[in-house]
Amino acid sequence: TPKDVPPISKSLTKIPDPFVAHKAPDVTIENAALVMLVRNEELHAARYAMRQVEDRFNRRYGYPWVFLNDVPFTEEFKTMTSGIASGKAHYAQIPKEHWSMPQWIDKSEARKRMKKMGEEGIIYGESESYRHMCRFNSGFFYRQEVMQQFRYYWRVEPFVEYYCDVVEDPFRFLAVHNKTYTFTMALYEYEATIPTLWEAVREFAKKHPEYIHPDSAIQFLTDTPGAGLSGPYNLCHFWSNFEIADLEFFRGEAYEAFFAFLDRRGGFFYERWGDAPIHSIAAALFLPRSAIHFYDSIGYRHAPYTHCPQDRESHDSGRCSCEPGSTFDYDGYGCLERWLRVVEMEYPAWPGLARS
Ligand code: GDP
Ligand code: MN
Repeated sequence: TPKDVPPISKSLTKIPDPFVAHKAPDVTIENAALVMLVRNEELHAARYAMRQVEDRFNRRYGYPWVFLNDVPFTEEFKTMTSGIASGKAHYAQIPKEHWSMPQWIDKSEARKRMKKMGEEGIIYGESESYRHMCRFNSGFFYRQEVMQQFRYYWRVEPFVEYYCDVVEDPFRFLAVHNKTYTFTMALYEYEATIPTLWEAVREFAKKHPEYIHPDSAIQFLTDTPGAGLSGPYNLCHFWSNFEIADLEFFRGEAYEAFFAFLDRRGGFFYERWGDAPIHSIAAALFLPRSAIHFYDSIGYRHAPYTHCPQDRESHDSGRCSCEPGSTFDYDGYGCLERWLRVVEMEYPAWPGLARS
């Protein structure tokens, strides 16, 4: 019969990374962290994603990792993830107020609506924990105590995949080029999860016109040219399971007021508002277009979609391993082409892929 895996050794020392020689002795790093909200049960999915982020990027830099959880992390989780981290690993438990229904929510009404959304077949429609996750990722991740020391973060989820060497430090890229928010994929939100979100956004914008940037990317959100927020929401958003961004944006006055306003409306619980449309709408309204960056060079997968760079160089050089034709960029369900128009960006397409 197979023997149990031996218990965690207290004296375990890390095996030195033979490739650490690649890390230039004078490598400078930004004030940044890799951040993962994750459950103990996702340990191996977390390690799978971590190993790739380390191999493709972080082992040359040693940026710290931050793991966040609504319950305490197990010793097993901590040991097996810190073994992969090339930098310091922080483990923090989320305070209860950041993972529960606020007192102004009518709990029985919320539960009724969840049940109904579940019966209607809406994805995660019946799940309360999913709603806590979305609310947390909308308004609380950047407020965690452990996050206060950091300026930039890179969001990583269990099971995501990275296909390309990340040659230039993205955190440095943000700092040097004044980028605030970056994405790899853009797509449509399920309307049934946000039926009243756009109305709330309109009201907020009316109350606070000063937060709307004069050179905003508002045109990414609506297909009615020049109509501003009076046009309907086209449901386009950046897929927030990947984000490399500046925490100062979230900690800023506009975003904080926006989140507080939306939280009061109760849509995280009465509906199923996601952090992706909320981050995206905020970025598209409060930032100049130029502060949002399509991170084309990062090959990335979060099931069921992949972003694979479209230029020849990324592939001919051996930097990437994804199939260029697998990219979501020109998918009929995607919003990237709208984005390219908003910023007037030239972008290649692998032969046979472009739609327009
Ligand atoms: P999806 O990508 O929308 O299908 O949602 P995921 O299941 O991937 O959840 C998004 C992120 O939140 C992932 O990093 C999950 O590990 C994390 N997450 C989701 N629900 C919970 C939860 O109840 N507790 C904790 N600690 N993390 C969660
Ligand atoms: Mn996910």
